[in-house]
Amino acid sequence: MMQRAVFSRGASLAPRSAPLLMRLDRSMSSLTIPPPAALLRPLEVPNRYLFGPGPSNVPPRVLAAGGRPIIGHLHPEMYEIMNDIKKGIQYIFQTENNMTISMSGSGHAAMECAVFNTVEPGESVLVAVNGIWGERVAEIAERMGANVHRMVKTPGQLFSNTEIEQAMAKHKPVLFFLTHGESSAGLCHPMDGIGDICQKHNCLFLVDTVASMGAAPIFMDSQKIDILYTGSQKALNSPPGTAPISFNERACDKMFNRKTKPVSYLLDMTHLSNYWGCDGQTVRAYHHTGPVSGFFSLRESLAILAEKGLEESWRQHKELAAYLYKGLEDLGLTLFIRDKDLRLPSVTTIAIPKGYNWRELLVYMMKNHNMEMTGGLGPSIGMVMRIGLMGYNCKKSNADMALHALADALKNCKKSKV
Ligand code: PMP
Repeated sequence: MMQRAVFSRGASLAPRSAPLLMRLDRSMSSLTIPPPAALLRPLEVPNRYLFGPGPSNVPPRVLAAGGRPIIGHLHPEMYEIMNDIKKGIQYIFQTENNMTISMSGSGHAAMECAVFNTVEPGESVLVAVNGIWGERVAEIAERMGANVHRMVKTPGQLFSNTEIEQAMAKHKPVLFFLTHGESSAGLCHPMDGIGDICQKHNCLFLVDTVASMGAAPIFMDSQKIDILYTGSQKALNSPPGTAPISFNERACDKMFNRKTKPVSYLLDMTHLSNYWGCDGQTVRAYHHTGPVSGFFSLRESLAILAEKGLEESWRQHKELAAYLYKGLEDLGLTLFIRDKDLRLPSVTTIAIPKGYNWRELLVYMMKNHNMEMTGGLGPSIGMVMRIGLMGYNCKKSNADMALHALADALKNCKKSKV
C-alpha cells in the first residue's frame, strides 16, 4: 500500500496561505516529500555593493531588459536580437569575424568551447600560467586529451615575446593561451607582437578577456588574435550566464576540418554557428534553448557600451583606476602590480597589509559596509585583496566608498592577528 503523506503543520503556515494549507491537507496525497518550507517564503535578495572582481552591479536598464516577456528561442525576433548581439560583440572585440556568437553559459563555457573546438586529442597546447586562468585552461585541455605544456610564472608576472616564441618553437603547439586581464593577480598583459609569433609558428592565439573587455583596450583583428572570449558579468554589466566569443578564419579552418568530433555536443561550433546564423545556411535549426532573458540583457549592455563608445569606456576605467591607486597609497597600502602601466583597470590588487588577516578585513567590510571585495584566487590566495570597479560601478563616488570602507576596516581589524 502506498504510504500517506504526513506533513506537520508548523506555526510558519500562517492563515495568509489558505490555498497552501488546503494543498498540504489533502489527506489522499500521493507525495511523500512535502513542498520545501524555504520555497513558501518570498525570495529575498540583498542589495550589495559588488566591488569585487565580478559579478558587478547591473544597471536598472539591463535588469529591465532581462525582465521582458519571454519569446521563443527560434522566433524571428529572437534571431534579430542575436544578430544585434553579434554586431555588438564585433564592435567591442574590434573584429570583422563572421564567426562571432555568445555562448549560453558563463566564461568557462567560452573557455571550453574555444579549446574543445580547436584542439584534437593528442595535439600540443601551450598555456601561459601567471594566475588561475592559465591553470584552468591547461586543465580543460588536459581533460580533453591534449598534450599540455605550461609556461609558469608567479601571479602577476609577464611573459616576454622571446620566452613565448622559444616555448612555441620547442613544443610546436596548435594553440597558445594567454590571459589579457588576469583578474586573480590584477595584471593586464601586453598583446602586441604575439599574434605574429603565433602565425609564424602556425599556432592559434587564444586570449581571455573576461575581466578586461570594455575596461582595457584590445583589438582582435589588428592584434592577430585568432580566438577571443569574454564574460557578461564584469565591465559589460550583464547578469552572469552569457559569454561572447569570436573565431577568425584561421581558427575556423582548424575547427571545421577536424578528424574527430569535439567532446561536447552543447559546445560544438558546427551546431552553434548554425544557431547563430554564421554558417551561411538559410535555416537555423534547433540545437539547444538559448538563455532568452540573458540575451536580452546582454544586448542591452552592449547597447550601453555602443552608446558610450569603447574608447570613452577605456578612458573612464583608466582614470578611475588612477584615482583609486592614489587613494589606496594614501591609506598606506601597496599595489600588488608595481608597474602602473601593467595594472588591470577593472580589478585592482593590493598586497595584503602586514599584520592583518585579509579574511577579517573582507568580513568587516561586508558586515559594516554591505560591500564585497575579495581575496586572491588560486595561486594568489593569501597574496592579494581585490577591488573591482567596472562598467556601471566605474564612478568616483564608488571609489570613495570603497576607500572609506577599507580605511574603516584597517582601523578596526586588529593588527595583531597575522
Ligand atoms: N577568465 C577570467 C579572467 C575571469 O576573471 C573569470 C571569472 N572570474 C573567468 C575566466 C571565468 O568566468 P566565469 O566565472 O563567468 O565562468
